[in-house]
Amino acid sequence: MRAQSCGSGGLAVQVLGSGGPEMQDKRASTSYLIWDRGAARVLVDAGGGSALRFGESGAQMSQVDVVLFSHFHIDHSGDFPSLVFSSWFEDRKRPLPVYGPPGNDFMPSTTEFVHDLFGDPHGAWRYLSDLVGPGAEGTYTLQPHNVVAGSKPALVFRNSEMAVSAVRVIHGGFPSLAWRVEMGGRRIVFSGDTNGDGDGLTQLAMDADLFVAHNAVPEGATGLERRLHMPPSVIGVTAANAHVRQLVLSHRMLRTLGKENETQAEIRRHFSGPIAFANDLDCFPVK
Ligand SMILES: [Zn+2]
Repeated sequence: MRAQSCGSGGLAVQVLGSGGPEMQDKRASTSYLIWDRGAARVLVDAGGGSALRFGESGAQMSQVDVVLFSHFHIDHSGDFPSLVFSSWFEDRKRPLPVYGPPGNDFMPSTTEFVHDLFGDPHGAWRYLSDLVGPGAEGTYTLQPHNVVAGSKPALVFRNSEMAVSAVRVIHGGFPSLAWRVEMGGRRIVFSGDTNGDGDGLTQLAMDADLFVAHNAVPEGATGLERRLHMPPSVIGVTAANAHVRQLVLSHRMLRTLGKENETQAEIRRHFSGPIAFANDLDCFPVK
């Protein structure tokens, strides 16, 4: 399927950025779109390079109902200001809800993040504060929310088309969320960055039609890498225990690229369903 036609016939996930922080991998950093019948309805993360991919996908920010952040590392959030400024040239006439984790000593909360970008008087791009900043008078404002989630899936956002739930996941000391979007009777789950500790992600992913997991480290990773990310065996166990129907591996990095055979073999020891390694602009129909 051509990337530009993703989701024209139904529900689909398009990978805008299939990489992690590295630019040498020639991949945009993490970002995903959920398409429904030709409209991009949900944006998950917005890492560097994803704003260009967003444009290449044919999506419009005016179509997006909600933005979900897994956490605020740069490879998941760096292009958000570019997307917001781009949307200013579109005819968006409704607020844009933005959901993400609370903060701690290392990271801003979601409300702090949006204020730090667009708030008046101290935001980096305060020149947009009257137009999109939180509390602005305009018709299109960003509405940031901090999501304090535990290990049981909690409903975060709902409209006539979708229900969105989250659990807290462990990504070193950085507040992080995994997201589930239920739409058209289907379940789409995004692991975000996590080392896989705890059973929240398995609960969230239960019976998912599509599970996007992050292949950031190879099997045998130790130390900091392992404290931040789950190796293929943990992805396989999670996908198997949650009975997911289709597994997509993204957040690919130089340390996992070229190791796809080993990665797949490790996952296969636990999970027997279809496995795909994502590239930028790949489109995965959810049937
Ligand atoms: Zn990351």
